[in-house]
Amino acid sequence: SIPLSFFGGIGCASTNGILVKGSNYLEALASTKYMVFDKTGTLTKGVFEVTQIDATQDFDEKQLLYYASHAEMASSHPISLSLQKAYGQKLERENVHDIEEIAGHGISAIVDGHQVYVGNEKLMQKMNIEISQKYQTGTLVYVAVDQKYAGCIMISDVVKPTSKVAIQSLKSQGIKETIMLTGDTKQAANKVAQEIGVDYVYSELLPADKVAKVEEVLACKGEKEKVAFVGDGINDAPVLSRVDIGIAMGALGSDAAIEAADIVLMDDDPSKISLAMKISLKTLRIVK
Ligand code: ADP
Ligand code: MG
Repeated sequence: SIPLSFFGGIGCASTNGILVKGSNYLEALASTKYMVFDKTGTLTKGVFEVTQIDATQDFDEKQLLYYASHAEMASSHPISLSLQKAYGQKLERENVHDIEEIAGHGISAIVDGHQVYVGNEKLMQKMNIEISQKYQTGTLVYVAVDQKYAGCIMISDVVKPTSKVAIQSLKSQGIKETIMLTGDTKQAANKVAQEIGVDYVYSELLPADKVAKVEEVLACKGEKEKVAFVGDGINDAPVLSRVDIGIAMGALGSDAAIEAADIVLMDDDPSKISLAMKISLKTLRIVK
């Protein structure tokens, strides 16, 4: 039977917008030593601002944004939402067909009868598009139209105000290692990691690479030590179900992530993870 105070713990968590799907997860949290985070939308706001648009001579900035936001019209990725916002007009949805979202890469779609690719360097490589200019900073969204490189939209994300303090608190609550995983560029990832003080950062990962990284952590942890992962995206579902405790951001998060998670943070606030940890430690002290 479940000790009564676990209900107290779960109730206290839920009052604070932390949905715990079972008392075993509250218990496991107290033994968590490795906390792995996804970057975009988890530690950062995932609301990118377009900072610069560089179109090749065949296109202008407006056209580039038109193609990109239309190709992205069905995506719920933070990058898509940022492009829609920068475009700022109503989309002509009937002009877009054959949309395909390629996890960790970007989008392929037909816009106004043109084949459009929108995504990172990996996508351009996959589609045999040669990028004519390379950039050194931030998150880069490349656009190709009819098999030709059309330009780059530069965007920048900001860290959530509570990410740094959340990482610090977790370290003082017994977390040995904080690890950040991302599909974003090395430059964008390192900037965030430095700002919030995570111990390890791995960038330019495909969804399958994230699972592999988590497998590595699981393989070298101690017998009684637990591994938790915090994420929000559709791509995060395989990792969320692989770890001991999957934590999903609920407000911006995808249904797949919420479904796969053991704990859901209703308001996407990373400091709620250390609050959950506190409730967990307190509950166990009562139970034991
Ligand atoms: P993260 O690990 O930062 O949460 P994802 O795994 O969702 O990111 O995506 C990794 C990278 O793949 C992104 O940084 C972006 O370069 C590219 N990407 C993924 N989805 C899209 C999309 N809908 N539009 C443009 N680029 C995308
Ligand atoms: Mg993500």
